[in-house]
Amino acid sequence: TDLIRQTDPEIARVIDDEAKRQQSHLELIASENIASRAVMAAQGSILTNKYAEGYPEKRYYGGCEFVDRAEQLAIDRVLSLFGADTANVQPHSGSQANMAAYFALLEPGDTILGMDLAHGGHLTHGAKVSFSGRLFNFVHYGVSRETETIDYDQVAEKANQHHPKMIVAGASAYPRFFDFKALADIARSVDALLMVDMAHIAGLVAAGVHPSPVPYSDVVTSTTHKTLRGPRGGLILAREAYGKKINSQIFPGIQGGPLMHIIAAKAVAFKEAQGTAFKEYQKTIVTNAATLAETLREKGLDLVSGGTDNHLMLINLTRLDITGRDAEDALGRAGITVNKNAIPFDSRSPYLTSGIRVGTPYVTSRGMQAAEMQIIGGLIADVLRNPEDGNRIEKTRAQVQSLCDAFPLYPDS
Ligand code: PLP
Repeated sequence: TDLIRQTDPEIARVIDDEAKRQQSHLELIASENIASRAVMAAQGSILTNKYAEGYPEKRYYGGCEFVDRAEQLAIDRVLSLFGADTANVQPHSGSQANMAAYFALLEPGDTILGMDLAHGGHLTHGAKVSFSGRLFNFVHYGVSRETETIDYDQVAEKANQHHPKMIVAGASAYPRFFDFKALADIARSVDALLMVDMAHIAGLVAAGVHPSPVPYSDVVTSTTHKTLRGPRGGLILAREAYGKKINSQIFPGIQGGPLMHIIAAKAVAFKEAQGTAFKEYQKTIVTNAATLAETLREKGLDLVSGGTDNHLMLINLTRLDITGRDAEDALGRAGITVNKNAIPFDSRSPYLTSGIRVGTPYVTSRGMQAAEMQIIGGLIADVLRNPEDGNRIEKTRAQVQSLCDAFPLYPDS
C-alpha cells in the first residue's frame, strides 16, 4: 500500500485497517476466503486498462491479442477443471452469472422451481427483492421438517404441480451434499432444464470432495471467490447447445467490457486449483468442518440437519434462547466473525433469525487444522452460552488473538 499511501492516504488507511482486522479475527463466514498473492497481483495488473468487448478472436476493439490469451487460458483451465462443454468466464459476479443463465435459457415470466431462501437458497433463486423474483415466476421447494435435508419428494411434487421450465439447485446455507442425479431425473420427468448454482461448493467440486453437478446439469453457474479461492467474480459452464446463447446474454446482454484483470486472476486461480496442494486444501476444509461440527455437538449445540458434509454448518440457537443477531454480535466482540442466518422454519424475522452460519474455508487457508477447530468450537460454544459475560468475552478475544498470531494470513510476507 506504499504507492496508495502517496496518492490517497485515506484509502491506504482503510486497506491497512482491514488487513489488521482480517489478521486479528477468525473469519468463519462460509462464503469468504483468502485469495493468493498471485491472484491479487493479476487483479492489480495493467490488464485493467484494456477494453475487450466480445470474446477471444472476436473482439470489438483492437489490441486484444494478449488479453485474448488470458481469457482463453481461463476458459481452457476451467473446462479441464470441471469437465464441461463450454465456459464463460466474464460474469462480474455470481448474481450476473445467474442472470445471464436465466436470460439465455428462458423468457421473462417463465416458471422456475428453486430452493427457498429461508431454507438455504440464494436471493437470485427467486427472492422478491431480487431481479430474479421480479422477472420470473419462481416457485420454491425446501427441506423436510424431520431431517432438515432437501425433500426430493417435495421437489418432484412441486415440479409436477407447476411444470417449471427450469429447476434451480444450489444454496448459500445448506450443509449437506446435493443429489444432482435425483434433481436431473425430476427435471427430465417434467421436461424442465436443470441449472445448478455451485457458488459455495465450487472448490470442493473441483477437488472431487463433493459430487459434481456438471454431468447432470444443462447449465452450472458459480462465483470464483468462495471455496474456489479466486478473485471476486462469476463463471458459467454449459452444455454445447447453450454456450453461444449464454455468451450473447453476458455480452452484450447484461454486461459491457469484461474485466480482463479479473479474468487473468481467474486463470491464475484455476491453475492453482489444478494442483495437488489444492485438493489437499479442499479435503482439509471438509475435515475441519466435520471436526468443528463434532466439537459444537459435543458442547451441546444443535446443528441444522445434525451436522455437515461440506464446508459449512448452521447452528440452531433456539434452545440457547439467543437470536442470530445477538450471537453474531457477541462472537464479533470475541473476534470471531460469523453471519446470522435463518434456519429452516425459523420463527424469527430475517433481521433477527435463530441461527448462525459457520464455515471453514478462510481459517483452513490460514493453515488451521483439527486441533484448532476443537479450540474454536469450544470458544464459540462458550460465547453463545455466556453472551453477556464481558470478562469471558475478553478472555476469548485473547485466545482468538493468539490463534491468529500463530496462523498469519500470508505467512511468506
Ligand atoms: N449464488 C450463491 C449460491 C451464493 O451463495 C452467492 C453469494 O453469496 C451468489 C450466487 C452471488 O454471488 P455474488 O455475491 O458474486 O453476486
